Amino acid sequence: MNLSEVQIRSSALTHNAKVLRQLCKPGTQFAAVVKGNAYGHGVSDLVQHLHPLVDAFQVDDIEELRIVRSLTDHPILVLGYVRAADVSEAIHLGGELAVYDTERLGAISQAAKQVGIRAKVHLKVDALLGRQGLLPKDIPAFIDALKPHAGIEITSVYAHFANIEDTTDLGHAQRQLEAFDDAVAALSGAGLQGTHRHISATSGLMTVEQGNHMVRVGLGIYGMYPSASLSRTHSDLELRPVMRWVSHLAQVKVLPARHPVGYGLTYITPREMRIGIVPQGYADGYDRGLSSSGEVLVRGVRCSVLGRVAMNMFAIDLSAVPEAKPEDEVVLLGDQGDDLITAEEIALRLGTINYEVTTRVSPLLPRRIV
Ligand SMILES: *Cc1c(COP(=O)(O)O)cnc(C)c1O
Repeated sequence: MNLSEVQIRSSALTHNAKVLRQLCKPGTQFAAVVKGNAYGHGVSDLVQHLHPLVDAFQVDDIEELRIVRSLTDHPILVLGYVRAADVSEAIHLGGELAVYDTERLGAISQAAKQVGIRAKVHLKVDALLGRQGLLPKDIPAFIDALKPHAGIEITSVYAHFANIEDTTDLGHAQRQLEAFDDAVAALSGAGLQGTHRHISATSGLMTVEQGNHMVRVGLGIYGMYPSASLSRTHSDLELRPVMRWVSHLAQVKVLPARHPVGYGLTYITPREMRIGIVPQGYADGYDRGLSSSGEVLVRGVRCSVLGRVAMNMFAIDLSAVPEAKPEDEVVLLGDQGDDLITAEEIALRLGTINYEVTTRVSPLLPRRIV
């Protein structure tokens, strides 16, 4: 048993992948998004476990492509930017590249020639997102620029929703769907027929997905909902949190009254107090914003963080757990006894989203499948 570790609940992972897959029309390719170290869960373990449950993987960069390719022969789409110097390696590894401007075509075409295989490319259209992507007005110029590049095969066209998780108003999503349909029509009108299309991430799959060729699912697989409203409307899926982040008490002691706790003297004991030292800190991904606001579980009891979270440790109030002793398990995220610390709860305290909470957990902490 490690002093501190991230436990991956394999039964939860299997359950989530299965129920989300069941939301898809038959024949839809189900791609697992494992960028960001599989949202902090640990990309190697996750890919090995998910391989039999999904059809494809999606990563952000060449480094993730290398890791995932060493573990699976599924198709892998690289969503982010790959430097011109790395494109031939990406193609050699069988990576499918996102393309979103005409400038990229030259580099991809040259690399494909070098490697001697046709490069599979997914064209990213900026359908009212305003991020990475080809603006619809630039589609005709793109088609013209594509003509000399026989080594490039546009296998898919895709877009991404901008506003369906933080709102119950799907108006913008509908306008995006229309813009996406128009873009796909413009492409097929210009000779790019039969290309596949995909637009939905977890939230799209739960709301507007009509049956495209593929869905790109991240958050839901890890057992989290994209918003509070989707967790209510889709509670029947019973998505189960996959991550459990644990440590063990490194010291238990009694501080006298009016004693400071930690850097900056931000907490002064109001009375004699039993405290515990948790050997995790912001270096491990336990956000400093949880200073004097976070809670952890010891023996199934909620204990408050006292004072500042330091780089590798923080103090907690053990007043409610008099029997606590050194090396007792501390749960920073996940369940213990009858209680549960969720990523959503931590995100609310920090003014962020559940995505960021798990993704920030240090990749250096050991991961263990349980
Ligand atoms: C991250 C990402 C996804 C997955 O989103 P979830 O909300 O985690 O399901 C899908 N598509 C693109 C383009 C992404 O960047």
